[in-house]
Amino acid sequence: MYDLVIIGNGPAGISAGIYAVRYGLDTLILEKDVISGQIASTDIVENYPGFSSIAGMELMDKFKEHAENVGVVTEDGEVIDIKSNGDKKIIFTNEGEIEAKAVIIATGANPRHIGVPGEEKFAGRGVSYCATCDGPFFRSKNVAVIGGGDSAITDALILSNLASKVYVVHRRDELRATEVLQERAFSKNNIEFIWNTVLDKIVGDDNENGVVKMVALKNVKSNDKKEMAIDGVFIYVGIVPNTGFVDVDKTQTGFIMTNDKMETSVEGIYAAGDCRVTPLRQVVTAVSDGAIAAASVHDFVKNI
Ligand code: NAP
Repeated sequence: MYDLVIIGNGPAGISAGIYAVRYGLDTLILEKDVISGQIASTDIVENYPGFSSIAGMELMDKFKEHAENVGVVTEDGEVIDIKSNGDKKIIFTNEGEIEAKAVIIATGANPRHIGVPGEEKFAGRGVSYCATCDGPFFRSKNVAVIGGGDSAITDALILSNLASKVYVVHRRDELRATEVLQERAFSKNNIEFIWNTVLDKIVGDDNENGVVKMVALKNVKSNDKKEMAIDGVFIYVGIVPNTGFVDVDKTQTGFIMTNDKMETSVEGIYAAGDCRVTPLRQVVTAVSDGAIAAASVHDFVKNI
């Protein structure tokens, strides 16, 4: 039986692993994908202390290398369920069962889908949730970015260096993104903002390999509708936490509720990073959560 199983190998999980091993806890990280969370698909990180500018993937490689150097063990496995049995937790994965004294959930979140007609149909054929991954397919083309948060504006900036024209379609007349990103986006000649407007429909060729051709937009103030020829639609309307497999107290939208020790409503189960209720979802806050969770597990395991 492990002292601790950490579910997720993004910044929160890896940080928890490094701290746990250094606390002397017998620790295993379970990873569902080799790609470590949202940060690995982030083009450039400019707000993690010590690195004025670093590719998300490179930062994750450094985290992983550090974890391996201190002896963190990682295995593949998708967790399906967690059950408590006396003092132990049983973690059910697609590969079998693992027992641990404590569990840290660090499974992060994935991009939310809007649910408009055409979104699923054209996913991967003009509809994308990641400019770093798919932006190069839209060189010299026209794209629309939906959303007004940090993700939308970060990726609009990436796309502005590839596409001819980037339309940012936002449901309000004010962005949610941080000032520095806003200023950069406002100064780009090929980014145009379409305010107070939502995406109604994505239209494309009506065959098996059809690609996006057009978006239908609706102004939420005037109710005016318009269609716009477009080659790609990049959607950034928030995130959905990967927490469906665990039965602890959560918000209506699935974010895990914790106290400031990262304890959840179930003794021995902790949560860290983007999957929990937190006022800020950044690499720096995820690694902080991971460290706090590992310290709490150390106290817990010592007292069992
Ligand atoms: P977010 O901050 O929740 O922003 C989502 C955006 O989508 C908002 O502008 C929201 O509009 C809009 N929206 C939501 N539902 C919509 C709908 N149905 N139709 C149209 N628009 C809709 O999500 P995020 O940008 O993915 O960021 C998630 C977290 O990661 C945040 O904490 C963010 O700070 C962090 N992050 C940081 C960085 C960075 O620092 N470089 C980069 C990426 C993400 P309203 O504004 O009207 O609510």
